[in-house]
Amino acid sequence: MDLTTPRAEFSQPAARTALTIATHHCNLPNMPSQASHPAPLPLDEAIRADALDCVMCGICVPHCPTFALSQNEADGPRGRISLLLGISDGALPVDESVRDHLDACLTCRACESVCPSGVAYGRLIDAGRARLAREDGAAQRPRALARHWRWLRDLLLTRRHRLGIAWGVYRATRLLGADRLARRLTGVIGHSLPRRPLGLPRSQTTGASGSGSQRGKIGLFVGCTGEAMNAPAARATREVLAAMGYQVITPSAQTCCGAMHAHGGDPEGARVRRERNAAAFREAGLDEVVVIGTACRSELAELETAQGLRVREITEWLLEREPAEWPSIPALDWRVAIHTPCSQRNHLGQSDATRQLLERIPGLELLDIADNQRCCGAAGMQVMLYPQQAGRLRAPKLQSIESLQPDVVVSANVGCATHLAAGAELTMAQPVEVVAAALTRWRG
Ligand code: SF4
Ligand code: SF4
Repeated sequence: MDLTTPRAEFSQPAARTALTIATHHCNLPNMPSQASHPAPLPLDEAIRADALDCVMCGICVPHCPTFALSQNEADGPRGRISLLLGISDGALPVDESVRDHLDACLTCRACESVCPSGVAYGRLIDAGRARLAREDGAAQRPRALARHWRWLRDLLLTRRHRLGIAWGVYRATRLLGADRLARRLTGVIGHSLPRRPLGLPRSQTTGASGSGSQRGKIGLFVGCTGEAMNAPAARATREVLAAMGYQVITPSAQTCCGAMHAHGGDPEGARVRRERNAAAFREAGLDEVVVIGTACRSELAELETAQGLRVREITEWLLEREPAEWPSIPALDWRVAIHTPCSQRNHLGQSDATRQLLERIPGLELLDIADNQRCCGAAGMQVMLYPQQAGRLRAPKLQSIESLQPDVVVSANVGCATHLAAGAELTMAQPVEVVAAALTRWRG
């Protein structure tokens, strides 16, 4: 087990990483003095308590996608927990190498899903990044908190209308063949944009709309991409909900779910956005919220416990409907490859939801992408912050998709869909769009 290899994406030595892990396995008070390093911040008892739940069995390690890439213990869950314990104990000062090992975690929570000791790894790594955010130096703080990334996040990526306009301009430049201009406009995020627009062709979804209202009102959370790359999924969701008899209301005051803040060392930013969203749906007289996208749904789960709102992702919501609520749907003879986002599998515990939903549509041939349980590398802003890692994790997915030759690839999370479609010419859609297409045929 080589504990001293730095992350391939970076050149900083990881000697202190090894020291931290050794520190955890040995006797902390007997370790060499850290006097030459900056004084550690006060202990974080919440981090320490979660980290001490880990018995260091290592069962989670082979399930970790970042460990699989580097084979460096410090890029796996056990190593990261050791780092956090060392930091929270005050035994390990944070340097750039330690930061990178923690920062590059995808928060996929594959480790948490297999941990026999019930370590709350997701909570731990989010708290760990918030702890890094308290460091003074830019090299120690999470990358997402660098000024240019914060500006990109807060001024564009989390602004629904602005992102919609920017997406429209980008698409127009691509359609006009001005690829060099498109590359200059998109800069550092250009590589993470889809080669062709997400969604099924419009002819596959129009006609399923209706003005349902007899069954009740549903609040629709469209997310930051609901007027940009995910607009086709938003349209399909409205169509399907309306066709099933529901009035759909999309409060304009809704905002970003806060996931990028929560996983990027800014829990306060996430809290502010959660409360703004709760107020937006409450003021619109709604107590049931349907979310497009499993990552947003995962982040908004707290609205259920803290605010009493009923929150469901559209795949999950459709699955909860009794079969009697579904119209009889004619066969749709498509080959559909299913991608399972980590937020759906590990955060929500709904690994089979997309398959179960699409099994209600006769005629579909459902195909699983190989190693569906392994993160594709998108992981919110990680695709921009750690592009090499994201590309290496995506490559086998694209190979599997190519071998399956599907008519359409579905993913219940727009971040994953965007990342996959940035790597190949794919017809990429949300599961609800396939339902909308089936309803279209039902309506003739
Ligand atoms: S959340 Fe994912 S990337 Fe992070 S340590 Fe766990 S398995 Fe590895
Ligand atoms: S997180 Fe869980 S599975 Fe991983 S080493 Fe710790 S106790 Fe074992």
